[in-house]
Amino acid sequence: MNRGRERLGEAAFANPRNAAAGSVRQLDPRVTASRRLRLWVYGIGRIVPGTSVHPPFEPLLFATHMEELDRLAAWGFAVIRDWTRGYLPDEKRHNPADRHYLDDPLDIEGVIAFYREVEAKKDSLPYEIDGIVAKVNELGVQRELGKVARSPRWAIAAKFSPDRAETTVEEIVVSVGRTGTLTPVAILSPVTVRGVKVRRATLHNQDNVDTKDIRVGDRVVVQRAGDVIPEVVESLSAKREERGRGTPFRMPDRCPICGSPVTRVAGEAAHRCTGKNCVARRKEWLRHFVSKNAMDIEGLGPKVLSTLVDEGLVAEPADLYRLNRDMLAGLARLGDKSADNLVQAVERSRTPTLGRFLFALGIPHVGEHLSGVLARRFGTIDAIRTAAPEELSAIHEVGPEVARSIREYFDSVEGNLVVDHLLEGKTVEIRPEPATEGIFAGKTFLFTGSLGLPRAKAKEIVRKGGGTVATAISRRVDYLVAGENPGSKLAKAKEMGIRVISEEEFIEGEFGGDG
Ligand SMILES: [Zn+2]
Repeated sequence: MNRGRERLGEAAFANPRNAAAGSVRQLDPRVTASRRLRLWVYGIGRIVPGTSVHPPFEPLLFATHMEELDRLAAWGFAVIRDWTRGYLPDEKRHNPADRHYLDDPLDIEGVIAFYREVEAKKDSLPYEIDGIVAKVNELGVQRELGKVARSPRWAIAAKFSPDRAETTVEEIVVSVGRTGTLTPVAILSPVTVRGVKVRRATLHNQDNVDTKDIRVGDRVVVQRAGDVIPEVVESLSAKREERGRGTPFRMPDRCPICGSPVTRVAGEAAHRCTGKNCVARRKEWLRHFVSKNAMDIEGLGPKVLSTLVDEGLVAEPADLYRLNRDMLAGLARLGDKSADNLVQAVERSRTPTLGRFLFALGIPHVGEHLSGVLARRFGTIDAIRTAAPEELSAIHEVGPEVARSIREYFDSVEGNLVVDHLLEGKTVEIRPEPATEGIFAGKTFLFTGSLGLPRAKAKEIVRKGGGTVATAISRRVDYLVAGENPGSKLAKAKEMGIRVISEEEFIEGEFGGDG
């Protein structure tokens, strides 16, 4: 209807209510008739005895509101039957004609359940509704209750929470979907829409952002319709032509996930990443993040994770911590119980040790063991993020290649964003790495010659003491434990200035000092 009006240069209707009211108010009934209005009746206002009805005139008598509705339906009026529930007094329950109302007699809990049921289905109804009305069924009681001002005491409206709300765009980020499509997403100041806290809303594509002129800092209207993912309907700041707004949003040239060039398919609104393994790689990365030795988020298997990525709910690790029951409830393969369990598992993973956190980031060449070593050596994530390459390679386990990899990660925009997002608002709170109990913490041992102890036993002592065993001589070795008939390793160690200790010293642990 609005499209037709716009073509004729007439103003569009703001909503169905205005369209209906405007149509009924038309002076020319032909205009009203052209508006394709449909009427559903919900009650009788007044009954005036017609003069044409000859005596004896029988007044229409109804005992209940439901009887009125039945009669209206019998006369051919459209009455909403599916969504009408009633409660009848006991004496009426036994009348078979009334029984169809009694499938689900409503007390106050029933009314509340009915309200929730209608709200959940309201988007699939062939008309718009904004709530339900609970009424007293018996007309005699209705009359007794009367009205206050113009409001009857026997009816009360329960409105649904609004589909729309006003909030501010804090940031516009780009999410990459299953097919590599880049979607701009507005990060919003949290606002509750239809009972759910909304923090992200889709902006669909560049054209949509341009048309609605949505910018960072704008006041906007967000809507949560039938879809799980809320959208930004309009920018109030743009409408008011506010001054000093943010710069217009531009889709990046490179994919935020894989760095591949982004192209716009001719004739399509969508921008796409050209990277071949873009999404697959991201799923791998998230899988590593949640794995047992990393953040250890139980119940987040590859299938669920894959769905979360495809649905656009999770693009980076920090998104996992924004998942809630409502977001998860709609997903295939996930019942209510699993959704709850998953939310709890995510909750439990919020306080990793520094070593686990570092390992979870998936920095190339930084495995579980090295993550622990770095954590103990530097103490805080900030110290690691800002460590100079020389500081890094001063650690025995860290060679130049590893040092470079760590620096590259923390120098990259993506790496920094991932960590920032995880740390902001205490999404994740890193615990200090527990100082390894044990006298060999952070030390590396190498054995040479024949020992009194079995080699396996010696290695076990080192590991239990928190140390590491090397397999060849290098400057990472702190102590060379020399047994009988040591080989060339001894000479080499001496040459390299590595401390040499005897088996006795090793067993007694009495060699202290810094290697
Ligand atoms: Zn990509």
